[in-house]
Amino acid sequence: MLEDILRNRHCFKLVCGAGNEDINEVEKLVYLYSKAGCNIFDVSANVDVVRAAKKAIKKSEITDNRYICVSIGIKGDPHVNKAIINSEKCRRCLKCFSVCPQRAIKNCIVDESKCIGCEKCFRICAYDAVQIINKPTDLNNILPKIVDEGVDCIEFHAITDNDEEVFEKWKLINEYFEGVLSICLDRAKLSNEKFIERITKMLEFSKNRVIIIQADGSPMSGGVDDYNSTLQAVAAADIINKSKIPAYIIISGGTNSKSKELARLCGVDINGVAIGSYARKIVKDYLCDKMSFDEALEIASKLVKSC
Ligand code: SF4
Ligand code: SF4
Repeated sequence: MLEDILRNRHCFKLVCGAGNEDINEVEKLVYLYSKAGCNIFDVSANVDVVRAAKKAIKKSEITDNRYICVSIGIKGDPHVNKAIINSEKCRRCLKCFSVCPQRAIKNCIVDESKCIGCEKCFRICAYDAVQIINKPTDLNNILPKIVDEGVDCIEFHAITDNDEEVFEKWKLINEYFEGVLSICLDRAKLSNEKFIERITKMLEFSKNRVIIIQADGSPMSGGVDDYNSTLQAVAAADIINKSKIPAYIIISGGTNSKSKELARLCGVDINGVAIGSYARKIVKDYLCDKMSFDEALEIASKLVKSC
């Protein structure tokens, strides 16, 4: 059971990306990380993506302790941002192409299904040619489809300062879905006090449910394997621990192979680590067929073991 893995504090969650609708990439990632020992696969709220993840788990021939979690992004959640290039402003310098971690830019056009909204292209473009738009999940439309498809966990990204919208959508998810629930939250728009207040209020809707709090340090900031990148995630978990909130804590946002160790060194109790950018980056050559499966598996397995 997922709860047993969380209790044992050895949960590894692969974040494929809430905005990642590249079915082939998701299938390859899930297959690889399932073989490597990953427990939870966090995927976009898209039925085809969920099916691809399920297919990959089945293909890996390890179905015990493999769970699918679907991420639901709210208005303002950076995980569901997408980039658009304005062809009139674009000077075709290709700088955005070289920084894009998803290989989502081709001929100065963004493939929306691959874009995860990391904003690296936006930050590097000197000609103001990149626009970032927010594409929140259409909850009313997708929730019944996802539930019918059969997923183990739904993660709600409560990353906004709009309390009303958070509680309205959280209530709907609670009513509609009976499995494990996860709340992904960071402190970018909330003080520490508001951060805890929001979690506490959300848990009031969810009595007797298995709840994971995904303490997001700095969304999509991973990629570097050092202690500093993972510091904010550990700090967010520490704040939750000290407030004695009754939930399992998984850290994310800047996480890497040092995350679990940093949490241990700081005496911060966590139940697992969710890794997105870094987990994808270390096997990026495998994803574009420039690395063998065995080589990628060795790299992925080492990361999973570190958590
Ligand atoms: S960095 Fe800006 S100008 Fe250069 S190719 Fe990308 S969008 Fe065009
Ligand atoms: S750099 Fe990031 S935001 Fe830009 S296209 Fe690539 S994935 Fe999307």
